[in-house]
Amino acid sequence: TPAVEIRDLTKTYRSDDEEDKTALAEVSLSIEEGDIFGIIGLSGAGKSTLVRCINGLEGYDSGSVRVRGREVRDLNPADLRSLRQRTGMIFQHFNLMPSRTVAGNVELPLLGGGMRKPERASRVAELLDLVGLSDLADHYPAELSGGQQQRVAIARALANEPDILLSDEATSALDPNTTKSILQLLRDLHDSLGITVVLITHEMSVIRQICNKIAVIDHGTIVEQGRVFDVFADP
Ligand code: ADP
Ligand code: ADP
Repeated sequence: TPAVEIRDLTKTYRSDDEEDKTALAEVSLSIEEGDIFGIIGLSGAGKSTLVRCINGLEGYDSGSVRVRGREVRDLNPADLRSLRQRTGMIFQHFNLMPSRTVAGNVELPLLGGGMRKPERASRVAELLDLVGLSDLADHYPAELSGGQQQRVAIARALANEPDILLSDEATSALDPNTTKSILQLLRDLHDSLGITVVLITHEMSVIRQICNKIAVIDHGTIVEQGRVFDVFADP
């Protein structure tokens, strides 16, 4: 089974005082396990809506969204929670808690999971090691560079051992060199953990740097899809 299989997905935002807005129209795409899959499009194209449909944060009007073979719409609340746990998310603005240390932020998804404190501490240490931040465990987010903050967010996203990592414009606030190092980290994590990476971006350079497959979305429809190698090949 593909990691994510979307068929004829249509999503319309309804509004009482404005016109209804069809954000996704008959979108179909298939993300295989182990892909580094790039979804590229301009602002407003429907990328975030697509991501929210994949992780169950948004309902949809018609079509099918299957994650690891299961229709998201049909999941009960407990299954939805486990879907979200197995789908790590990172964002443009990192979304760290300023009042918690680096270690404290990475620990957050582990709270309430039945892990004891010493076990959590060793898991956090392992995660920080994975992203190269062991030395900064006791620092606060405000003391870190943008790239370091995104590494914290990546460690946090991996805490519950997701098999899919969804990156929503995660490098958009970073300079080109930092972008490069974060993309390299995502590729390393993909290679060492076997994690499927879905990368939403408006930047073609990001896709070229790490993705093996790409879908181009425009005004809510997929206008091109395939292997990066083929899509970029000269006709
Ligand atoms: P992107 O992530 O590519 O910028 P979005 O998925 O955020 O695109 O938005 C797709 C379209 O849906 C846009 O026209 C946007 O204005 C509209 N939209 C997004 N979220 C909502 C919402 N909650 N209510 C109404 N319209 C929305
Ligand atoms: P091995 O192949 O040595 O059995 P893995 O490569 O599966 O081990 O995992 C190595 C470490 O990375 C383990 O501590 C595990 O908890 C962690 N790990 C494995 N998969 C993931 C994942 N998807 N997200 C975060 N951590 C993971």
